[in-house]
Amino acid sequence: MTGVSTRGTGVLDSVAEAIGHTPLVRLNRVIDDIRATVYVKLEYLNPGGSVKDRAALGMLLAAEQAGELRPGGTVVEASSGNTGLGLAALAAARGYRTVVVVPDRVSAEKKALLRAHGAEVHETPGLRPVDHPEHLRSVALRLTAEIPGAWFAGQYDNPANPAAHKATTGPEIWDQTGGRVTHFVAGVGTGGTITGTGEYLKEASDGAVRVIGADPVTSVYGGGDGRIWYVEAVGHFLHPETAADEWPESYHPEVVDGIERIADAEAIRVLHRIAREEGLLLGGSSGTAIAAALRTARTLGPEDVVVVVAPDSGRAYLSKYYNDEWLGSLGFPLTTKVNGPTVGDVVGGLDRDADLAAVPSGATVAEARVLLGSGPALPVVLQRTASGPTVVAEILGSVSAETLAGAPAADPVGAHLGAPLPFTGTSEPLQQALIRLAGHTGPVVIAHEGRAVAVIAGLAESTEQEETQ
Ligand code: PMP
Repeated sequence: MTGVSTRGTGVLDSVAEAIGHTPLVRLNRVIDDIRATVYVKLEYLNPGGSVKDRAALGMLLAAEQAGELRPGGTVVEASSGNTGLGLAALAAARGYRTVVVVPDRVSAEKKALLRAHGAEVHETPGLRPVDHPEHLRSVALRLTAEIPGAWFAGQYDNPANPAAHKATTGPEIWDQTGGRVTHFVAGVGTGGTITGTGEYLKEASDGAVRVIGADPVTSVYGGGDGRIWYVEAVGHFLHPETAADEWPESYHPEVVDGIERIADAEAIRVLHRIAREEGLLLGGSSGTAIAAALRTARTLGPEDVVVVVAPDSGRAYLSKYYNDEWLGSLGFPLTTKVNGPTVGDVVGGLDRDADLAAVPSGATVAEARVLLGSGPALPVVLQRTASGPTVVAEILGSVSAETLAGAPAADPVGAHLGAPLPFTGTSEPLQQALIRLAGHTGPVVIAHEGRAVAVIAGLAESTEQEETQ
């Protein structure tokens, strides 16, 4: 007995055949006093590194069969990275060219991986309404129209996406648990995974399996206001200027029995624990899904079996969820214990749920001047109809007396933006923050768990004040 399973030792004809048949791994240490069994389905073991290989293959085969994609053709997709990666790998093996449109906030690692597979990567700025010409989907559709022989995969509305999970992910989980699975938990991006797998498991169990979605707190799927968040590739963002909010056709909400809403900080805390206590290095959306699975499992008994999907690996996010500089700058939990004071320790009197003193992006120059008064620069933030804490990523730039000098009073403030103010987070070690912001004079935004909670005159000044008190 070597203890090594025989998965993947077969001889395969192509990379496509290596997709699927991923293992379930039991969580043993992070479960604390949970009595139910929790298994994680390790989708990062797919050859393209994520659960999206399954949808990519399903969509590609359907397009070939329908004659929409022909030899020498080009595959186009709008993707937060993983679907693009799955398509790029499969397309490379079949002789197609691949063009992937990604939002600019996607991790640098994912963009590098796409290029490594020979894909052409187009970046689009984030925070655009769906019908905006710079929105991900609009750019992908324009490129599809321009490139001869191009086929748009369209994972959000392509029935082959959920169908791939109904044909593979669902049956695998049913077989692997010998039909004992009682709860299925997955994040919702396009909805393909939860819809296809959930439909299969419900049919196989005569409706007994409960299907639970894991969603970022502010995502619209779980009832949030659509404000942006930091865990990539799950949830549904709603730009305030969106005329009609349309959900993907790949998502069938009627399959879902309940949604657990998970804050970014909770997802990140779970990720760090899973890496250190279970030996699994997982991507951000796995943190969201496993946090939801653990919350669900806490309410269950010893006979219950929870299966949760871990869509990809932490290797694609070493610059984010496992990088203390990125985490600290946003006020998220760090991977390591801090020696010495943090920014949160020295910037006193913070109301961590306060609305930020800021200029909304819809203001005119005259209105911005009133808000500024004789004070220092203020952040300009994406205007929203609902109130609530500003996410750091919603900061579009800054305004000050200098940036507005000579600007016509009726101009939109957006036409006179300065660079965004630098930010530091409550969890960042003070020494690190002082070094990082050393070249900067003027106001600094303080972040706590991804939200901008205050603007202070300057970090060095605040620290000195604190020391003389
Ligand atoms: N997690 C990651 C890392 C993903 O790339 C995706 C796909 N966008 C999801 C979760 C969500 O999967 P689905 O699109 O099937 O809902």
